[in-house]
Amino acid sequence: ETKSTASGTIVSADQAEQERRGLMLVLSSPSGAGKSTLARMLLEREDNLELSISATTRARRSTEVDGVHYHFVDNERFSEMAESGDLLEWATVHGNSYGTPRGPVEATIESGRDILFDIDIQGTFQLYEKMRDDVVSIFILPPSISEMKSRLRGRAEDTEEVILKRLKTAVGEMRHWSRYDYVVVNEDLERAYENVRAILKAERLKQKRSGAVGKLMDGMVDDLQDELK
Ligand code: GDP
Ligand code: ADP
Ligand code: 5GP
Repeated sequence: ETKSTASGTIVSADQAEQERRGLMLVLSSPSGAGKSTLARMLLEREDNLELSISATTRARRSTEVDGVHYHFVDNERFSEMAESGDLLEWATVHGNSYGTPRGPVEATIESGRDILFDIDIQGTFQLYEKMRDDVVSIFILPPSISEMKSRLRGRAEDTEEVILKRLKTAVGEMRHWSRYDYVVVNEDLERAYENVRAILKAERLKQKRSGAVGKLMDGMVDDLQDELK
């Protein structure tokens, strides 16, 4: 609660961090760099952050739950969603369709909460076109190509054919790292996580997103001016 007194307007530090427009945190990486792992850690450890649940035509993996990790849909349903404007962006990745449902994104950022996206580079660039000011993008890099390959194989979720397809896509994607706002190398997982967390923290405090603090500053200046009259 903001209080106006003769000597100024007081705002709590919590308010300063919370009363603002939410941001869109985008994590992208070549497959196997650890983006999903970092996304999961963020969701577990950060308050005020929720996941944008994409629609996809890809087959569900054994570890995935419909409506939690993705909305698994068939090609027909996906086309309907794309044609009716229900998707904020969509792209074909590794031969399957993926898209971001629009409604939850708008509702989340307008309510002052942040939303996390695990999307590919094509999707990121579409979000830039639509909502550049709200997007904070991070490109996750593997420490080496051999490490990236062994992580993909270690995950043991995909066939060798799918892994090769993902590696081919990775080459094209890695050329675009410089269009991201930040780059984080995922060598040691905890260290990579700390870097992502620091980015989120700083971006939350950006002047352009400040709701409560902006009002506070204007109020304080007005009060001081009156006091000095
Ligand atoms: P996804 O299913 O493609 O999203 O892959 P996940 O990000 O869910 O990761 C798959 C598995 O790797 C999970 O069982 C994790 O617990 C495990 N894992 C997470 N972090 C690490 C790590 O730093 N090193 C290793 N070796 N395994 C990890
Ligand atoms: P992506 O979502 O980028 O395809 P994942 O998050 O699924 O990648 O990570 C690929 C594999 O590498 C997973 O088995 C994951 O547990 C593992 N992994 C992620 N980060 C690290 C790390 N820093 N060190 C070792 N293994 C990791
Ligand atoms: P996976 O099949 O490993 O879950 O995801 C494959 C790729 O599709 C990843 O690069 C992931 O970031 C991307 N992806 C997931 N959801 C979306 C989405 O809604 N839009 C776009 N453009 N890409 C997505």
